[in-house]
Amino acid sequence: MAFALSPLPYADTALEPAISAETLSFHHGKHHQTYVDKMNAAIEGTPHADASLEAIIAASRGTNQGLFNNAAQTWNHAFYWHSMAPESTAPSAELAAKIDEAFGSLDNLKQQLKDRGVGHFASGWVWLAEKDGKLSIEETHDADTLADSSFNPLLVLDVWEHAYYLDHQNKRPAYLDAVVENKLNWAFASENLARGTVWTYA
Ligand code: MN
Repeated sequence: MAFALSPLPYADTALEPAISAETLSFHHGKHHQTYVDKMNAAIEGTPHADASLEAIIAASRGTNQGLFNNAAQTWNHAFYWHSMAPESTAPSAELAAKIDEAFGSLDNLKQQLKDRGVGHFASGWVWLAEKDGKLSIEETHDADTLADSSFNPLLVLDVWEHAYYLDHQNKRPAYLDAVVENKLNWAFASENLARGTVWTYA
């Protein structure tokens, strides 16, 4: 069964000025759509055709790089859309306590997310994740994902150039500052922490 493109959970103008409608239209409507299309073409008529996206990611890791890249990018982008919101929300009490324990404060966590994003060489993803009850910032390169890892991802930032080039050109720090300070969906992170298992593609 072919996968559908995960819909944006808000209007394409909702993240302005951090991320413009033009960027979202290309990033969601072209980049994300292409990953979905290529994955669907790769699984058609194979045993993967009826599997969940998470199972396809796990099965193709290290064995079928082309399929893995498109499946992981399909998942990562859907998770990324949910990681942002028109109005930045507040962490739950449970999440706030874990943030204080691991990072000292929410402001310190935000600064570390920005620093890790700026420092990430070339394309990839910067995650807030939980493992064994402890929070950490993790990085994955290119299409790599935490979807099939031992971490429970809570939030992700896309640091591929296509995420910000139309709005901020080469200035990745400006993109990260605008998103991290104003558009992170802490309610989504709180739900992921409370569930305790990895979010599934929707
Ligand atoms: Mn992207």
